[in-house]
Amino acid sequence: MKRNPKSRTTSTTMSAITKVPFSSLKVDTRIRRAIAEEMRYEMMTKCQAMTIPVSVKGVDVLAKAKTGTGKTLAFLIPTIDRILKIPMRNRDGVFALCISPTRELASQIAEEAKQLSAFSKTDFTQQTVYGGTNVKTDVKRYQRRFPDLLVATPGRLIDLLENHGLSRGIRSLKTLIFDEADQLLEMGFRPEIRKILGLLPPKNTRQTLLFSATMPKDVMGIARFALRDKFEHIDCVGEDTDTHKRVPQSFTLVDESNVMIELASAIQEAVEEDPKRYKIMVFFVTARLTQLYSQIFNSIRGKFKLNVLEMHSRKSQSHRQKCAKSFREGERGIMFSSDVSARGMDYPDVTRVIQIGIPS
Ligand code: ADP
Ligand code: MG
Repeated sequence: MKRNPKSRTTSTTMSAITKVPFSSLKVDTRIRRAIAEEMRYEMMTKCQAMTIPVSVKGVDVLAKAKTGTGKTLAFLIPTIDRILKIPMRNRDGVFALCISPTRELASQIAEEAKQLSAFSKTDFTQQTVYGGTNVKTDVKRYQRRFPDLLVATPGRLIDLLENHGLSRGIRSLKTLIFDEADQLLEMGFRPEIRKILGLLPPKNTRQTLLFSATMPKDVMGIARFALRDKFEHIDCVGEDTDTHKRVPQSFTLVDESNVMIELASAIQEAVEEDPKRYKIMVFFVTARLTQLYSQIFNSIRGKFKLNVLEMHSRKSQSHRQKCAKSFREGERGIMFSSDVSARGMDYPDVTRVIQIGIPS
């Protein structure tokens, strides 16, 4: 069978694969068929095998699993299964809401949901909303009919709930998902999350699934606030596997005026380690700085010319998607990025990460 061309399965995903097949799940046959025929996956990852059988029971789940290990399917399978159990004519309003920190991740979730519902298209609707797009277009779409699954970034979600009639549709909410919760909080969305929780039906009337790559204190804080008192805590990581403990790290102090030269030589060094295979990510503290350095590097001609992928919020969505794809799939690449790529994106086989300036 041909490989699924839309898949972002990487070596990280494969290292988390178990011997438990998707076919063993007690979920709607159309979902199982979509996994086998549309997504072409056979075995579950550890995080999927550990959480899906629990989530399908309808209990609240707090799950910790590393980036790239299939968290999206882990929450989408029980969610879509639950939606399909209810006859379409009895569904009036948003049934499941997934909150995602960035547009990229929101689009990835929507794409997986689309594949997963390939054989239940007439029985399942979804909509994705995020900032930087026309609000009216979003509103027009759900005014006709609220989607069964809504995937949203926090800012736009609040706007739609407070000002554009989404609050009417959200009354029927039965599943709430926080994706990449640690990143949501790191990006400073705590006030938004508190606000959103205040605008949603109370927690005892819905199932809440919270997924995160790490479980710092503030994530636990949100968990206590958002999840019912009795929730399942599922740790798919364990203690000693934290990536950052296995990766050598070093730092250099440089004068502002020398950053350019130091960065160029750090990149050069990383390239020379293996000129055939290198993937270098350079993080800057703001979108502006990312833009400035990208433009400077991309305008260098001659011997030191390096093509730099430019990734930050000032770039169009289509540009960002193109860059992400090229960096994910290529054998060589250099990406300059703001914190939009800091978490949740799975770029396989990165050889070097350089951070310029102290992250906020
Ligand atoms: P995470 O959210 O944990 O970072 P994703 O849900 O984005 O990971 O999954 C990364 C990629 O792996 C996606 O393209 C997804 O379709 C794919 N994937 C998920 N589960 C499996 C599986 N069991 N087998 C193969 N690929 C999978
Ligand atoms: Mg994810």
